[in-house]
Amino acid sequence: MKKGRIFSGMRPTGMLHLGNLAGALNNWVRLQEDYDCIFAAVDWHALTTGYQDTSMVREYTRQVLIDFIAAGIDPERSIVIRQSDVKEHAELHLLLSMITPLGWLERCPTYKEQLQQLSGREITTYGFLGYPVLMATDILIYKSDTVPVGEDQLPHLELAREIARRFNYMYSPVFPEPQAKLSKVAVLPGTDGRKMSKSYGNTIQIADPPEKIREAVKSMVTDPARIHKSDPGHPDVCTVFAYHSAFTPEAAEERRGECEGARIGCVACKRQLADTLISVLAPIHERRRQLEATPGLIESILADGAMRARPIAARTLEEVRSAMKI
Ligand code: ADP
Repeated sequence: MKKGRIFSGMRPTGMLHLGNLAGALNNWVRLQEDYDCIFAAVDWHALTTGYQDTSMVREYTRQVLIDFIAAGIDPERSIVIRQSDVKEHAELHLLLSMITPLGWLERCPTYKEQLQQLSGREITTYGFLGYPVLMATDILIYKSDTVPVGEDQLPHLELAREIARRFNYMYSPVFPEPQAKLSKVAVLPGTDGRKMSKSYGNTIQIADPPEKIREAVKSMVTDPARIHKSDPGHPDVCTVFAYHSAFTPEAAEERRGECEGARIGCVACKRQLADTLISVLAPIHERRRQLEATPGLIESILADGAMRARPIAARTLEEVRSAMKI
């Protein structure tokens, strides 16, 4: 007996990165044991910030799906979809947008933060403001009760809960209030120290070859107060330590001790991290190569996923239409 139903997705706005792997994918792989899972490449979501240049959305969608499977998502056990293949999401999005007050969306901290961080892009659009409604739709259309998210997504999930509550109160109780299942990994910083994000161009990609990983790790910012190897370091402000904690949590305390006790220099510590990342990624790269070499595989996974997802989504929509009397 499974514990419940999970929905989670990734935006195909670029190649998946180590933040996506540590903060989400690794967790998803484990959750498949205990939950009925639906995992999606959410391509409509990609348009919310990337509607001007859509030339790569299809290719990134394919790459995201390859990363899912290479990292250990099993498309027979879990349902793997591309959001735009299940048109029911669009209808529910429209209906939920009718009941979502503008103030909820404008107050969302991630909305304000992204407007600021992506100030060069024209994202003062209806679609971008409505991002959390689309995310709520993805979750609620499968009546998911559990959503594995990183801390960065918590405000969105809170909105999904509020939208579900409002619908249930106004019409009739159709939706469960989805609960967050927080990933234990803190938000991973990118090579520039901001949150690693496909939208910020500061990522180390899952698909990056070993030489690129070494280069990226070498350029990471460490504790700025540590000038000589003999100075004690402060791991909590060091990007390299954040990665040690995320990828080898069992050895993090040892790394901390070495750094605080000035027993290891930043160069050696970075070398150690690069070796760790390369060995974590080696089996994923091997599976990526096999998947890339099998023509039609991703297409058939998507066709199967859509076939299994649609009836669930359609059933929910029936209930929604009936509750709303339309
Ligand atoms: P991005 O910001 O790179 O576009 P998404 O918004 O597609 O990432 O997020 C997909 C999943 O990856 C979410 O569950 C999110 O919590 C997780 N995630 C994204 N960036 C990070 C990060 N830097 N550290 C940890 N988890 C992250």
